[in-house]
Amino acid sequence: MEEITTNSPAETKKFAKSLAKKLKGNIIALSGDLGAGKTVFAQGFAEGLGIKDKIISPTFILMRQHKIPNSNNIFYHIDLYRLADKNQIAALGLEDIFSDPKNIILIEWAERLENLPTDTVKIKIKKVSEKTRRINILS
Ligand code: ADP
Ligand code: MG
Repeated sequence: MEEITTNSPAETKKFAKSLAKKLKGNIIALSGDLGAGKTVFAQGFAEGLGIKDKIISPTFILMRQHKIPNSNNIFYHIDLYRLADKNQIAALGLEDIFSDPKNIILIEWAERLENLPTDTVKIKIKKVSEKTRRINILS
């Protein structure tokens, strides 16, 4: 298990950016309370993939897609905070999205999903103080 501490949003973004560049597998599952820094992490991660779009949390629509420049790959940014019920998960069609290696998927509130593929990189972010976050890469 890898653990790092960041002391600003910029540091969290930098860490996420570096992770995007050396990512093994295609699914990142983020967990942590509201305000922990999952969306900030997603922004740095997308930047690391070369995405220039503004990354905002897909809170009400649950999922947003961004084309990854200079590739055929697509970044899926999923946020399950407002997930109401299991039918909504089914409607997202996650199995198909997960199983296509061309897709890179980052999920906020991933703890709300019961079954994640075994090669998922699980990351937990914890707010330690106003500006300090502890980030654990669990697998
Ligand atoms: P979440 O998506 O987990 O609900 P956000 O990423 O939307 O959280 O918000 C995190 C908030 O915490 C932002 O306002 C950000 O500026 C602030 N913040 C302060 N310190 C950090 C840090 N070290 N890493 C990430 N975010 C931080
Ligand atoms: Mg968020």
